[in-house]
Amino acid sequence: MKKLFIVSFLFSTITSFASVIDLQFDSNVTANLRKQVMGDFELMQNMGASRESPIHQEIFGKVDGSNYLQWFQQRVKYFGFSSCGGPSAVACVKPQYLNKIWVSGNYTGINHPQIARLMTLYHEARHTEKDKDNWPHAKCPRNFPYRSIWTGKRLAGNYACDSTVYGSYASASVLLNNISKFCESCSEKTKQDAKIYSDDQVKRVVDAASVARLKQDFEI
Ligand SMILES: [Zn+2]
Repeated sequence: MKKLFIVSFLFSTITSFASVIDLQFDSNVTANLRKQVMGDFELMQNMGASRESPIHQEIFGKVDGSNYLQWFQQRVKYFGFSSCGGPSAVACVKPQYLNKIWVSGNYTGINHPQIARLMTLYHEARHTEKDKDNWPHAKCPRNFPYRSIWTGKRLAGNYACDSTVYGSYASASVLLNNISKFCESCSEKTKQDAKIYSDDQVKRVVDAASVARLKQDFEI
């Protein structure tokens, strides 16, 4: 009995040292998904750069892996798998649950680059900020021409846009834009992918003053 305790204690110590980030997964999160999430944060862990844009500085601080992981960890402690309320959803928060995000079958079932998956997780992490009313989305215009880069579904008329540079789409776009331009330890593929997804997500910002601020931030 005593021996068994020591073995399991050692095992849990080893596994916690091996994790790049401390997340508690729901029991319906598959081993493959847990491994994928950890692998994606490992990609981020070693990022570094000597500069960043002003909005990035304001929201995330420096382009720095440990800084990014700490930012995420301050917001997200629990990770679930859920339909997130509809066939279009990729991930979600449920405001009554603090520090928790869920991903859906669209997250696991559609193949996207590592940095795009991280973008989605940072998008949701931003939504956990209860003191900011979870950064609610704005309604995309009825004539909004863009489709979701993730699912290909139409966005016009849906609450899938932002009207502030600090919202989930805008902040995740700023994050990836900075990685695409300034990350010194990233592969060319990561930087190219970051640019593609950043350029896409920034189109979800529909407020003119915010668009102008982001344009200026992206040109730095
Ligand atoms: Zn959102």
